[in-house]
Amino acid sequence: MCGVVGIIGTAEASREAFLALTTLQHRGQDAAGILTFDSRGFHRVKNVGLVESVFNRQNMETLTGNVAVAHARYSTIGHGDLIDVQPFLTSYPYGIGMVHNGNIVNVGELAEDLKKRGRRHLLTHSDTEIVMNLFSEGLAKSSPGADGRLSFDQICESVSEIHRRVNGSYSIITLVADHGLVAFRDPLGNRPLVWGKRPERRSGDAASAAPTGEAHMVASESVALTFNGYEIVRNLEPGEVLYIDLEGQVHTRVLTAAAPARSHCMFEWVYFAAPDSTLEDSPVYGARINLGRHLGRLVREELKKRGLEADVVVPVPDSGRIAAISLAEELGLPYREVLIKNRYIKRTFILDSQDKRQKAVRLKLSPVRSEIEGKRILLVDDSIVRGTTSSKLIELVRQAGAEKVYFVSTCPPIQHPCYYGIDFPDERELVASGRSTAEIEKLLGADAVIYQDVEGLRQSIADAGRWDDTSRLCMACITGKYPSDISAGRRFAEKRVSDRKRLGEG
Ligand code: AMP
Repeated sequence: MCGVVGIIGTAEASREAFLALTTLQHRGQDAAGILTFDSRGFHRVKNVGLVESVFNRQNMETLTGNVAVAHARYSTIGHGDLIDVQPFLTSYPYGIGMVHNGNIVNVGELAEDLKKRGRRHLLTHSDTEIVMNLFSEGLAKSSPGADGRLSFDQICESVSEIHRRVNGSYSIITLVADHGLVAFRDPLGNRPLVWGKRPERRSGDAASAAPTGEAHMVASESVALTFNGYEIVRNLEPGEVLYIDLEGQVHTRVLTAAAPARSHCMFEWVYFAAPDSTLEDSPVYGARINLGRHLGRLVREELKKRGLEADVVVPVPDSGRIAAISLAEELGLPYREVLIKNRYIKRTFILDSQDKRQKAVRLKLSPVRSEIEGKRILLVDDSIVRGTTSSKLIELVRQAGAEKVYFVSTCPPIQHPCYYGIDFPDERELVASGRSTAEIEKLLGADAVIYQDVEGLRQSIADAGRWDDTSRLCMACITGKYPSDISAGRRFAEKRVSDRKRLGEG
């Protein structure tokens, strides 16, 4: 999972890219980079680490120009090396910079084809390099417009070819030197991409300033836009290409090659996206409130059925907090934030190995014993993936003197691998895979485990906003029904597992 940003038409491009990356930091904390362009050429700063640590006053001053692409990285592929840190750059044709959020399932086949047929030597371990090669190949093959400049038709042809050949999820933003900014989404629209604009006074490099007086931003989440004062125009459609040239002209097209089957990842609302973002016109915060309310009803029924009672609702910070508020309201129980988070430790799933994750849970949370002792605790988290966090949390709460611990998850059981960018490509690591709830309870050491149901999840996202298309959410990790061909999935999973082993994290 990653965060992507593209900006055009403002002399503040790099500064706004930096702020946008900061608002998207939750999408990836491994590395960050910004690429800009002006009449002197490309300028790039990238490194491993948090946005805050990668950029400083000195290197920001080198990022001149009115157009930028930027990336916050969570490594779902590759080895976490500097070489894999985006934005990527290629010189031919025109000069292209690229950032990508998503995962390419048939990465192995495409890499082989590029090597054999295309006689390419791949320089990174990243699937983004593959897409960049296909994009540049497409632009190089097609004939430019009458004025010798890159035309929108050429761009669309090139993206159509990517849609035909690349299987998986990809929200991509590219910077084409001397031309402008191109953004496109995969035909399923699996990963978010939103576009906004803002009136802009002309300033800076006259050669690349937008005479229309508008600045545009495209980003993974709306929070990056609103934080920088951009008005949301709309989400890019699945399979859509947006091209904003240096003159500020806007071109858009939904490619006919794109399948109409929208399939947006549900996990964005459940966990990934920022609570102050709106995805597909459905606010994340509202969806999480709905998830808690719906789950509250299920919890009431289940506790009654089993003759159990709870005294207090405790959220797992921060991922369970919003849903826990409405869940407590629904059940008429007190809500207490009594697992105190040490905010100086990274999110645990970012620490790739099981061992590192277990230690991180202990380091990160400290229970308030006086509020937990002798109580029957309803512990609320967004989801249970590997079960590592939940079992450690249950143990922590028990050690603080809880009489009973009921663990409730706002997401239904995750039983199938994800090949589209959420980093659990191997079902063997999923605690719910092939296990009954009773078995999961035993394994996690909980007095009860209560899950959201699929309809509750769907309805919670639908009811939060104006997006009435939630029958087309991607719930493959819950249902096992994948929206695209995953025949290359096994190979993909093996590569990811071996990448992790190489890092000594398996
Ligand atoms: P665990 O059950 O130990 O894997 O931890 C689950 C917690 O980590 C939940 O809050 C999840 O939402 C969060 N999480 C988010 N993304 C991932 C991921 N790719 N792998 C594992 N856990 C994740």
